[in-house]
Amino acid sequence: MAKLFKSKTIRSGGNAKTIKGDKMGEYETAIMYLAPAAQSLLGNVCPMAVTAGCEMGCLSKAGRAGMFSSIVEARIAKTQRYFRDRAQFMADLVKDVAAFVRYCERKGIKPAVRLNGTSDIQWEVAHPCYRDGERFGSIFEAFPEVQFYDYTKIYKRVSRKLPANYTLTLSYSEANRAYADEIKKAATWSRVNVAVVFRSKAVRDSYMATTFEGVEVLDGDETDMRFLDPKGHTHVIGLYAKGPAKKDTSGFVID
Ligand code: SF4
Repeated sequence: MAKLFKSKTIRSGGNAKTIKGDKMGEYETAIMYLAPAAQSLLGNVCPMAVTAGCEMGCLSKAGRAGMFSSIVEARIAKTQRYFRDRAQFMADLVKDVAAFVRYCERKGIKPAVRLNGTSDIQWEVAHPCYRDGERFGSIFEAFPEVQFYDYTKIYKRVSRKLPANYTLTLSYSEANRAYADEIKKAATWSRVNVAVVFRSKAVRDSYMATTFEGVEVLDGDETDMRFLDPKGHTHVIGLYAKGPAKKDTSGFVID
């Protein structure tokens, strides 16, 4: 396997979904994994987790993190650093994103960063940072050469004017009917894509062959790079459940 990027705050994935080419060139994604929801005990990094009913099936418990408590402990420690000293945390993040940019330059590929791998933090507000002594309103403004993207359950975020290098995809759940309706409403007026987790690959494929709630369903598992998805009108980005999410009965996973 090719050498991957690893730092205190972000790391690049070891699978094909986070290394992907398009006609503009090839991207590699570095992702930040925090302890989701209130797992760090110092604050909540997923304000909609209870409403959306997603914590139990949260992908953070899938794969490596589900098997090794040392990974969970490291994510909790990182999240506690985020709550205890925000300025230092942002300084570490700037240092790591800058290192990732250099790593991508050496590889001749383009950098993509997903900060909310297992969180739903509104990085576009109240997260200023400094790069080379200059103050920026957000990490996105500090790194215009990086393509940032995230999934979110905080539907009000899509009403904001986001930086050009930050793409959000709404995240669906039927655990709470009012929440599902709000996501549908936000997707309709904003035309932002909506990620839907289906029970299995077969269930996802059957919706791809038809529609979900009348909306075209695209394969979201082929790549994680949501900024490459078609835009202009809303698409459903179909994902199939992995790890504990397969057994989710909250309404987050769709049958
Ligand atoms: S699915 Fe997303 S919002 Fe829900 S608990 Fe996990 S990281 Fe947080």
